[in-house]
Amino acid sequence: MKVNAIKNVGKARYSFSPKEAESSLAALDLAIENHRNWYIHLHEGLLCNQMFSDTVTDIAAHTKCKLGCWYYNVASETITSHPDFQELAKAHQSLHDQARKLVTEFKSVRVVDINEYRLLTEKQIEVMNLLVRMRDCIIDQQHCFDPLTGLLNRKSMGLLLDKNHTQFLSHSAPYVIAMLDIDFFKAVNDTYGHLGGDEVLKSVSNYLSSAIRDSDCICRYGGEEFQLLLPSTTLEVAERVLERLRQGIANVSVPFESKNIKVTISIGYALSKADIGIGALVKQADIALYQAKASGRNRVVQYDPDIEGK
Ligand code: GH3
Ligand code: MG
Ligand code: MG
Repeated sequence: MKVNAIKNVGKARYSFSPKEAESSLAALDLAIENHRNWYIHLHEGLLCNQMFSDTVTDIAAHTKCKLGCWYYNVASETITSHPDFQELAKAHQSLHDQARKLVTEFKSVRVVDINEYRLLTEKQIEVMNLLVRMRDCIIDQQHCFDPLTGLLNRKSMGLLLDKNHTQFLSHSAPYVIAMLDIDFFKAVNDTYGHLGGDEVLKSVSNYLSSAIRDSDCICRYGGEEFQLLLPSTTLEVAERVLERLRQGIANVSVPFESKNIKVTISIGYALSKADIGIGALVKQADIALYQAKASGRNRVVQYDPDIEGK
C-alpha cells in the first residue's frame, strides 16, 4: 500500500461496507473480463473473417457491449464515485468509435490501416488502464479503512505518521499525537450487547471525524481506542482541541433499541520532539492516557516526563 493511496484522507471516511466493496470489485472484474472478450471478438472478426456482432458495428455499440451494460446500468456507487468513472465513458466510447471505423474500412478494402490499428491499441490501453486503476483503488480502500467505523485503520495511519514525522524533521512545526480510549466500554457491551457497542463505536467515530480539521488524521487504533494526529499544533492548542472533543463525546447520545447510550473518553497526548521517534511519542501519549484513566477517566492529560512510571 502506498501513502498516495491514502493521500488527503486523514479525516476522510470510507462510507462503503466491506460487502459493497467486495461485490463492486467482483462486478468490475467481470466487466474487465467481458471487455477482454469483446476485444478478442473484434480481432477474430478481422483476422479470421468472422461476423461482427452489433457490439462492434452498432452506432451505440458502447452501450450494448457487456462493459457498457455494466457502466450504464449496474455500476455501484463504490465505482461511480471514483474520479476516473467519467473519464472511462469517454475512453470507452472513443475505443468503440475507432473499432467501428476500422471494421467499416476493413469490410470495404479487406485490409486494416496500420495507423488506425495503432490508434485502436492506444485507446484499448487507455480503457484498460482506467479499469485497472479503479480496481486498484477499491483494493487500496479495503486495505486502508476500518470496515466497522469507516475510519483509517492503524496500518495506514502508520504510513501517514511516518510521512508527517519526516516533514516535521525537515522543516515543519511540531505536531501532537493523542490516544483516545472509550471509558468502561466493556460495560457498554455487557449492558447493550456487542451490537450496542458497535453502534457506539460508529457514533464516536462519526463525531470525531466531523469535529477535527481537514489536516488532522484520526484512525481506529484497535478495539475502542483511537489515535489522532494534529499536525503543526502547539500543546496549548492541542489541549483546547482535545478538551472540546472530550466534551463533545460526552454530549453524544447513541440511539439503540429505544434507549440512548452515553459514553465518555479519556485522552492522553504528547508533543513531537526531534530526538524521539514516532514509536516513543505514541508511548508517551499512551502513558498520559494511562494517567487519565488512573486519575478518574473522562479527562485529557498531557504527557509529563516527571510522572512517567509513577
Ligand atoms: P477502560 O475505561 O479502562 O478503558 O475500560 P474498558 O472497559 O473500556 O476497557 P477494556 O479493555 O476492559 O474493554 C474494552 C472492550 O472493548 C472489550 C472488548 O470486547 C471491546 N471491544 C473491542 N473491539 C470491539 C468491537 O469492535 N465491537 C464491540 N462491540 N466491542 C469491542
Ligand atoms: Mg476503554
Ligand atoms: Mg482500551
